[in-house]
Amino acid sequence: MARQMRSIVYGPVPSWRLGRSLGVDLLPGDGKTCSFDCIYCQLGRAARRLAQRAAFVPLDTVRREFERVRGVAADYVTFSGMGEPTLASNLGDALRLARDLLGLPTAVLTNSSLMAREDVRRDLAYADVVVAKLDAPDEQLFRRVNRPLPSFSLTEIVESIGLFRTAYTGKLALQIMFVEANRDAASRIAVIAAKLSPDEVQINTPLRPCPVTPLTTDEIAAIREEFGGLPVVSVYEAARPAVTPLDVGETLRRRPK
Ligand code: SF4
Repeated sequence: MARQMRSIVYGPVPSWRLGRSLGVDLLPGDGKTCSFDCIYCQLGRAARRLAQRAAFVPLDTVRREFERVRGVAADYVTFSGMGEPTLASNLGDALRLARDLLGLPTAVLTNSSLMAREDVRRDLAYADVVVAKLDAPDEQLFRRVNRPLPSFSLTEIVESIGLFRTAYTGKLALQIMFVEANRDAASRIAVIAAKLSPDEVQINTPLRPCPVTPLTTDEIAAIREEFGGLPVVSVYEAARPAVTPLDVGETLRRRPK
């Protein structure tokens, strides 16, 4: 599948989790490509729903793009973009290129769906930080909130995050997006999170334009209480750095204001 010729690097964007985050998008540039279709997704409905990996962007292009942005002030090179970054089969190679050419810490924001694959866990291990999504405590809520392709199971995903945890030496964060649909499941999600021993739990609610309403500061504060004893950060408490994107258009396509 050929990728249209667009810049694969965007931002830096101000991230409440990663500071000045220089984004990298290894997916096709013509709409969302994801194994999920979350009810809160800021990218709209999935244009391309995939469960299999492919190389969408040649490594030569990745190398050229990294050389173009060398020296940009950023805290992390973050692999995210218009969908699920582990669908890119050259993610591991691109992470190594980022480390070698940009000399910055790397992060991957993943929906965790492909973590059951050994090649995906091997690729993710090259990142300094892996932020793994966990929005539901059971299959029913998983299907309602994340709307995955039918082949995915939450049980298998949770097991594979645990497997990754046992071998990974970087920082593993769990990111939980809370909306009305899973608000009352916080205590059950917290039990699963505790078993996974993450280095951080990121409690989020969608503040960018999307089809659902974010939870209030009081609701997020109450949810935070359920995660007592875990290393929690939450979206309403965190500061965002001031940044100037390299290309506003490329940035807004992936991260609408
Ligand atoms: S996993 Fe991310 S990109 Fe995919 S549908 Fe959910 S929010 Fe959107």
